[in-house]
Amino acid sequence: MNICIIGSGYVGLVSGACFAEVGHHVTCVDNDQRKIDALLAGKVPIYEPGLEELIHQNVSAKRLQFTTSTAEGVSNAEVVFIAVPTPPQPDGSVDLSYIEKVAREIAAVLQPGQYRVIVDKSTVPVKTGEKVADTIRRYNKTGAEFDVVSNPEFLREGCAVSDLMKPDRIVIGGNSERAIALMQKIYEPFLAPVLVTDINSAELIKHAANSFLALKISYINAVAQICEASGANVEKVADGIGMDRRIGRNFLNAGIGYGGSCFPKDIAAFIAISENLGVPFTLLKEVQRINRTQRDRFIAKVREALWVLKDKKIAVWGLTFKPDTDDVRSSVAVELVNDLVAEGADVTVYDPKGTEKALEFKLIEGAKTASSPLEAARDAEALIIATEWKPFAAVDLAALKSIMHTPLLFDGRNLLDPETARSFGFTYTSIGRE
Ligand code: NAD
Repeated sequence: MNICIIGSGYVGLVSGACFAEVGHHVTCVDNDQRKIDALLAGKVPIYEPGLEELIHQNVSAKRLQFTTSTAEGVSNAEVVFIAVPTPPQPDGSVDLSYIEKVAREIAAVLQPGQYRVIVDKSTVPVKTGEKVADTIRRYNKTGAEFDVVSNPEFLREGCAVSDLMKPDRIVIGGNSERAIALMQKIYEPFLAPVLVTDINSAELIKHAANSFLALKISYINAVAQICEASGANVEKVADGIGMDRRIGRNFLNAGIGYGGSCFPKDIAAFIAISENLGVPFTLLKEVQRINRTQRDRFIAKVREALWVLKDKKIAVWGLTFKPDTDDVRSSVAVELVNDLVAEGADVTVYDPKGTEKALEFKLIEGAKTASSPLEAARDAEALIIATEWKPFAAVDLAALKSIMHTPLLFDGRNLLDPETARSFGFTYTSIGRE
């Protein structure tokens, strides 16, 4: 099938590459000229395992192309996906201006006699599909035929390609049989379970799913606080809870909290949506509160050990919101670095993939950067692990200890084994375990 994707970021670009991989012809559109120029020059603007190879293969096979022109993308495509940002506003509600703008842009290029399915893949509040359809109707003067479908995306950055190629489920929300049939045809090669719903339910599924995952993280973090107060071990507790198949072990890792471009904004959005509908989802406010507490409690532990943070040389490993990505948006690691800098600490950071973006977007002003974990830790009076990158667990602990000024190790992601770290002479502190 011929597909157009508007917005070629983490969701749009990876989706486009995967649709091309299963045989569809895909045009990825983006209004960021630099991004499209890079893609046309064979450079992939984001880091995602396996993505670069996938893009190169499918460009060579002439199944994947890039343009800044919405008109060009929409003219050949039976199905047009919208994958633009839906950032939070200061009150937590969703800024839908990108979606509205794209709806108008699509409306301006729809032609009579052509039927198009417009698919919302961005994460949007329930009832946005209705507004997109109204907008297209209002701005298209030709009476062109179209249907709007909701198809939320559940990929995880860091394993987005495999998530898209082998999804747990595909949710298609629509009110038109014709549109749903085309969507099913697109997804047929993925051999995944498909759940067909109305548009409102599909939109709600995404916010409800992300909020539930965040709730699981805050739940185990609250349990970790109780473990710290009682001397229990949160990892053993999580194992014991997670072995129950009704609960599952995933998303039960205690740490300094969730971050990233999705969870914080989606939970805030779901709270705002529920309030607007007159049914405030107050449980989610507690999820947010616990999340914030985790970082504060962690910094308090560092402060307690160092007494005063001002002028202390602190190394931080990790900037990305999770491993295997270069995404530093709303990363707890970045927020932690900024908290330390704000207290006057002399911070040096290292991240395998995220430093460039953190510097480009001026997210860590006041901190120094290093090109290896050991270089960051040289002469440090404390080391913090803020993101659970696998290479950090493989660092030579003897070399690390010899290079640091004081062997104080704060593991915000429970990445290392406490006994091992202590056996190398570190004073080791982690989350919810002794
Ligand atoms: P992103 O910022 O990486 O990409 C969005 C792209 O849209 C950018 O390249 C931007 O230049 C482009 N864009 C903006 N306005 C445009 C326009 N008018 N025309 C063409 N291009 C335009 O964002 P993302 O992380 O891919 O997220 C997109 C949506 O998907 C959001 O709603 C997000 O919540 C949702 N989502 C994200 C993830 C994730 O892990 N990143 C997972 C599931 C869902």
